[in-house]
Amino acid sequence: MLGFWLLVGITIAGWIFGLPRRWLLAALASAWAVIELAHLSGMGAVFGGSARGWLVAGGLVGLVLAYRAGLRWLRARAAPPEQHKPAPVPVADVELDRYARHLVLREIGGPGQMRLRNANVLVIGAGGLGAPVCLYLAAAGVGRITLADDDTVSLSNLQRQVIFRSDQQGRPKAQAAADAMQALNPMIQVTPLPRRITEADADLIARHDLVLDGTDSFDVRDAVNRACVAARVPLIAGSIAQWEGQVTLYDPARGGPCLSCLFPTAPAPGLAPPCAEAGVVGPLPGVVGSMMALEAIKHLTGAGQGLRGRMMIFDGLYGESRMIGTARRADCPVCGSALEGGATAP
Ligand SMILES: [Zn+2]
Repeated sequence: MLGFWLLVGITIAGWIFGLPRRWLLAALASAWAVIELAHLSGMGAVFGGSARGWLVAGGLVGLVLAYRAGLRWLRARAAPPEQHKPAPVPVADVELDRYARHLVLREIGGPGQMRLRNANVLVIGAGGLGAPVCLYLAAAGVGRITLADDDTVSLSNLQRQVIFRSDQQGRPKAQAAADAMQALNPMIQVTPLPRRITEADADLIARHDLVLDGTDSFDVRDAVNRACVAARVPLIAGSIAQWEGQVTLYDPARGGPCLSCLFPTAPAPGLAPPCAEAGVVGPLPGVVGSMMALEAIKHLTGAGQGLRGRMMIFDGLYGESRMIGTARRADCPVCGSALEGGATAP
């Protein structure tokens, strides 16, 4: 048994003197080799056991040590190289980089970018106009965007609704567009609303700073206008047909007209057919929707002069644009009575 106690003694001494693990193992292996050799040369009786017993015991310990060393090697290979991870960049630096071209603009700068970040915008319609509106507002860093649309992506949309991809046919537009916006800018919050906005949504609209309407049905646009007037929230409206489009800001609470001031009744059947019947050239919603996004950024940051009391008309077929003045009608059935007592005079 002396051999056993010799190994125990070496181990205890190693621990007491703080011997490195590698040296301790070397000392134990040496002692084991001496005992084994002594047995083989017929002088091992003093250590106890037999040559075969010490060989088996040493082999087992060796196997365990080799197994543990193998595991450590495998783990080291599988573990991600910690030292190569880039240091986490503070959020503020990421924003400085992402919005660098806004920050150098005198009319936007840091304060304007903060206003965009704090803004809460409702986009109605994820169609031809909604596509650039959603992409540009997301890219610009508008902090919270709600996107309402009750339609699904179809093949005939893809000619102009550039926010969607061919493999998204059949998906709800609100969700598919929200995914694209989040992929473009994960720093903003996008809420898809897969339903139509009606006149009863004034409470929802009141929770937003601005509404952008790119729908193409007069009934929906009229309902959105009524809800915006009731909630006293400004509305940027764009519309397109064939080669021509228009953009304006309806804001009767601050002196501008509402949609009903300009278009008190629905157009006669056939006079303003939707794009599905009349057709629309692919890039036109890109032009008009981008103008809507531009007006939204101006409105939210306070830059330049908005389109309150003005309507921009763009004629793509002749490459012309013109501006017409618009005015609030005192006898407007929508904003005339809704704002009584609380309206600012035009
Ligand atoms: Zn009105």
